[in-house]
Amino acid sequence: MFVMQRISLLQIAPTLADFFGIQLISRARPVEQILEFTYSRNPVPPVMVLVVIDSLDCHFYATYAVELEVLHHLVERGGLLFECETVSNHTTPAIASILTGLLPETHGIVTSEDVGKSKINSILEILDEHGTPTAVVMETNGTKPLAGRISYVFAVDDREDIGEYDELIKAHTITVLQKPEVRLVASHLRAIDRFSHRGWDLRVAAKVTNENMRAIAEAVSDRNGMLLICGDHEMHLKNKKRETGPATVPLIVACP
Ligand SMILES: [Zn+2]
Repeated sequence: MFVMQRISLLQIAPTLADFFGIQLISRARPVEQILEFTYSRNPVPPVMVLVVIDSLDCHFYATYAVELEVLHHLVERGGLLFECETVSNHTTPAIASILTGLLPETHGIVTSEDVGKSKINSILEILDEHGTPTAVVMETNGTKPLAGRISYVFAVDDREDIGEYDELIKAHTITVLQKPEVRLVASHLRAIDRFSHRGWDLRVAAKVTNENMRAIAEAVSDRNGMLLICGDHEMHLKNKKRETGPATVPLIVACP
């Protein structure tokens, strides 16, 4: 069950770039298994939705398998599951790496202050520039550099009520999926990360995330689209006693 192919988070953007037929400066290799999976679909998926679930690491994915049943079902019903090496312990550089295929020292986005200063374009901008509309659904600061550069930008202000925040991310993701011209959507759910930092019940966060993913998966299914779900970094836990070895996060690829 848990024999997963090991890849890197850096390979997600090159895989999407290969699918869409565009060039990135990343030297990371596309994941052949994902490309074969994509081309084996009939019709080939008209839209790709990448949902980054903050702090979803492989340990959490396995521990809360019952609560995360939507994710596990996607894998069990013919989806792909990979174990990805992470590139940073922090959200901002990790997401920039997922969207560029470059290490943090190369893209230079370390804090939210750096967002927008990097000269390197993400796959969202490159694809949109080539006439293929893309969309982002993220926290307001993370979306600022993309405003006016990609077709659809849904900015959600940070807030104490993280349930409400993720609800908005989910709603905007579903809304943008109604637009037939959009080919790539990137969204970011944050409840699990917030709960872990506050020491709250992670089971609740897993359930909330699962329900949001259920709704997003249905919307992707309605469009015969493809859904990619990944974590960004290992969970930050106080008094952590984790087995040694590099941190890994799951990547799920499925046509719901
Ligand atoms: Zn994070």
